[in-house]
Amino acid sequence: MLSLDVKGSILDINDTALKLMGLEKEKFLGKDLSVLKNLFSSENMKKHIESVDTTAQGGNVREYESELVTKEGIRYRFLFSTDVIKKKEKITGILFRGRDVTQRQRAWDELVKLEEKYRVLAETSADGVITIDSLGRLTYVNPSFENTCGRRKSQILATLLRDYLSNDSIYLFQQVFIDTRKKDEKVENVELELVHSNGRLVPIDVNIAPLYKNDKFAGVVCTIRDITERKKVEDELKKSERLKTEFMNIAAHELKSPVTPIKGYLDLIISDTGSSGKIRDWAKISQRNAERLLRLVNDILDVSRLDTDTMRFNMEKLNSVEILEEVVEDMKAAIEQKDLEFIVHIPKSLPDVIGDRYRLSQVFKNLLGNAIKFTDNGSIAIVAKEEDKHILISVEDSGIGISKEELKKIFTKFYQAYTGDDRKNEGTGLGLFICKQIIEKHNGEIWAESNIPQGSTFRMKIPHL
Ligand code: ADP
Repeated sequence: MLSLDVKGSILDINDTALKLMGLEKEKFLGKDLSVLKNLFSSENMKKHIESVDTTAQGGNVREYESELVTKEGIRYRFLFSTDVIKKKEKITGILFRGRDVTQRQRAWDELVKLEEKYRVLAETSADGVITIDSLGRLTYVNPSFENTCGRRKSQILATLLRDYLSNDSIYLFQQVFIDTRKKDEKVENVELELVHSNGRLVPIDVNIAPLYKNDKFAGVVCTIRDITERKKVEDELKKSERLKTEFMNIAAHELKSPVTPIKGYLDLIISDTGSSGKIRDWAKISQRNAERLLRLVNDILDVSRLDTDTMRFNMEKLNSVEILEEVVEDMKAAIEQKDLEFIVHIPKSLPDVIGDRYRLSQVFKNLLGNAIKFTDNGSIAIVAKEEDKHILISVEDSGIGISKEELKKIFTKFYQAYTGDDRKNEGTGLGLFICKQIIEKHNGEIWAESNIPQGSTFRMKIPHL
């Protein structure tokens, strides 16, 4: 900052300016502005002298920028202004001020570079990128969006995005737009339909994020992906999944019809005291296998019912103690046959639940059946208790256990963990999948825990009344 008299001689100079020039005050006082010539280009020097003159004559000079280079060669960007010093309405001097705006300039340059970077990114993106103002009007569209929409930028800028959405999508989009604004959060993977200029409906996947200008909501930025191909594949997949389920269903029904009479006749042979022991033994083996086949067929039928959401649930108020005790009674013999200890803890105070009697029993029996199948020594326990508005039922065994990796997969369709022996072939890998689905239909949860050498525990919780 320098103060000059009306003739342009320097009256005073502040410390910051002195420091920049690296000279003592005395070297300046009484001199004119040209003492600064080492700091500025001749062109800029001319500008300074001109603006001091103009100001001295009462004229107006706008702020202007100029480069300043120190003795050491450091470059600064300065913003200069000149003002008059008045005494009793008379101009007595001039204040010549320079402000260091190097940082600001740098930040600005960075911003321009950054904006340029984002502009290039958006312009070359394979996904559509658009911005919409707070009234829903398009303020930017990139070339990919122009292609997806089948319209030129010049046709659609400043028009409403909703004009290009299918009727079904308009409401959803508006909801999401309001949500984004209200919650100040981005919303991802919203599926909408765009109407192409040729009338075709284009399925799109949209991500929406709010935009702010001076801390005020200014609209949203959306990235838009054309998912026509993905939809096609999904539709094909659904179709083939449906065909597979239909086939499974028909095959299972067809298999079931002949097995039922086979089982019936085998029953007759086994209970016929007239037939020889040998024949009855063979019949018993056949019957075990017929039962296995029937279980497999029933599992396949259940899975196809679950897949097509046609499994009927007869929901009623159930006495959970009664159901669990029935299951215990039914499974007791099989557990004793393997010489395992059966620990049962079912408190009489266990509350009622709403559920399907047959299906819940099926789940409990399946879990106990698995526990028996995978346990050769020790015990099997069924423990029930009330916990946090739910009944919690655990089926614990001291069997071979399940590895951590496999725990994640056992509830998926057809999955059988590797057990290291031929037992693997005995089941279908469908039981736990069916159990999980049934429990979820009861608004419950099922999960498994295992510590390999100590066995496995299957737990489930179902909301009680
Ligand atoms: P599976 O018909 O094979 O029993 P499930 O769906 O009932 O089919 O079980 C899937 C797999 O989970 C089984 O093959 C087995 O590897 C594992 N599994 C289930 N229950 C137990 C258990 N109590 N102990 C050890 N492994 C188990």
